[in-house]
Amino acid sequence: MRLHWHRTDLRPSDNLPLSTVDSDEEPRSSGNRRAPRAGDEPILPVYVFDPRILDHAAPPRIAFVIDSLERLREWYRTRESDLLVVRGSAPEELARLADAYDADAVSWAQAYSGLGRRRDQRVRERLDADGVESHTLHDHLHHEPGSITTNEGEPYSVYSYFWKKWRDREKRESVPAPGADRLAAPDRDTPIPTLDDLGFEEPEATVPTGGYEEARHRLNEFCSGPIYRYERARDRPAADATSRLSPHLTHGTVGVRTVHDRVVRAREDAPDADAREAVETFRGELAWREFYHHVLYFNPEVVTENYRDYENDIEWRDDAGELRAWRNGETGYPIVDAGMRQLREEAYMHNRVRMIVASFLTKDLLIDWREGYDWFRRKLADHNPANDNGGWQWAASTGTDAQPYFRIFNPTTQGERHDPDAEYIREYVPELRGVDPDLIHDWTDLSPTQRRRTAPDYPAPIVDHGDRRERALAMFERARGEADDD
Ligand SMILES: Cc1cc2nc3c(=O)[nH]c(=O)nc-3n(C[C@H](O)[C@H](O)[C@H](O)COP(=O)(O)OP(=O)(O)OC[C@H]3O[C@@H](n4cnc5c(N)ncnc54)[C@H](O)[C@@H]3O)c2cc1C
Repeated sequence: MRLHWHRTDLRPSDNLPLSTVDSDEEPRSSGNRRAPRAGDEPILPVYVFDPRILDHAAPPRIAFVIDSLERLREWYRTRESDLLVVRGSAPEELARLADAYDADAVSWAQAYSGLGRRRDQRVRERLDADGVESHTLHDHLHHEPGSITTNEGEPYSVYSYFWKKWRDREKRESVPAPGADRLAAPDRDTPIPTLDDLGFEEPEATVPTGGYEEARHRLNEFCSGPIYRYERARDRPAADATSRLSPHLTHGTVGVRTVHDRVVRAREDAPDADAREAVETFRGELAWREFYHHVLYFNPEVVTENYRDYENDIEWRDDAGELRAWRNGETGYPIVDAGMRQLREEAYMHNRVRMIVASFLTKDLLIDWREGYDWFRRKLADHNPANDNGGWQWAASTGTDAQPYFRIFNPTTQGERHDPDAEYIREYVPELRGVDPDLIHDWTDLSPTQRRRTAPDYPAPIVDHGDRRERALAMFERARGEADDD
């Protein structure tokens, strides 16, 4: 018997550790005995709600996980197997289940964050002590950390070089789910806990639907049309022109090989060169995801520390009132407020708008990126430390390929450029719903009387962008040790 420990791989197919231990491939094993050629070992799937990991979780993500687990369990049940769902410390629970089911191995997909790797090490040691093997495989990325490096063997800190190698390197194809004859059935029914059971409140957002079927559906929808306009429309938040696969990639309801196979098929079917180019741009985003996972793997401290050192500390401001206005979408900058409200309503935000709100927090409000990262961690269904941290440190000019400190987004012109008809703004900011787009984009220049007449319930801008831009430049120059002494 082998236990398969599902984590961020909430799917039955294209799951390397779940399936390939049954194939001709030799699993990577870190146990104290040689991995068995497990073609004849029944598999028992397990999910563990570990309080040490739950401490870092938040309602939208847990809601997505519970939804996905229900669908995954259904998949197993229709094959006369079942998903064991337990609560407790992962090392102890897995050791206990291995003993109860006489399992000689546990398989799982490799984690990349510091927290996940420490937990896995504890599990490995605990299983080792009982003579149970640990089979861990890289599954969550096409190219594992350390496999794409500079010619000197160092991890890349610049995306464009990483991308060239990532783009040209052969990708593995997806693998099928294990056959029903390979699955074992537990002798008990383990209910999936509710949010309340786990001590979480209901999320305030309507969380995206989870599960492997929904992920496949989204992937197919996106690749049969919208992907061809990705290049020109992806920066338009009102266009709904991106894949919305992020929670699925974060929680592994779809495998990266399945995504890539489908994207390559779309490229083959592309009607013209522009469409092919658009597919390539999309592939570039998949590579960004892997780049940030590599950055996190080699620099686990970035979840709390700046990736990039400055000569002096950056003098971020503490301002509870401005932070609250930002979180609530009440800054008086319409595109910022629309994004922050989309986050609260959908546990999701469009990428362009994530960049704008992150720039606004760090360069207009001069508030530490860690505050923003923490809010996103609590509110996003797709939060994962690699991408979230990469995005925040990019915006704060503290990251790998970060936005240079002197290039500061103007939230008004960003709104005009990316949401010219204010469709996105009006969707998420009801106070501005009937307002002419020109007046919306002029909001910061209107007089208090004009604002009162135009949209009495919408706030005036809480800061002046021009002033704050100057303050941000001075703050970064001091951090760089370049500011005048006087
Ligand atoms: C401040 C900030 C915070 C972010 N936090 C997260 C996060 O917690 N989780 C997350 O998955 N993404 C995060 N991103 C990246 C990006 O915004 C989202 O991946 C994207 O908006 C998800 O929508 P989509 O699936 O429709 O993307 P698509 O445009 O369809 O892209 C497809 C996939 O590529 C990956 N991807 C796209 N853009 C990026 C990027 N810039 N960096 C890394 N991977 C990318 C994602 O896995 C995404 O699902 C963040 C970006 C910023 C600026």
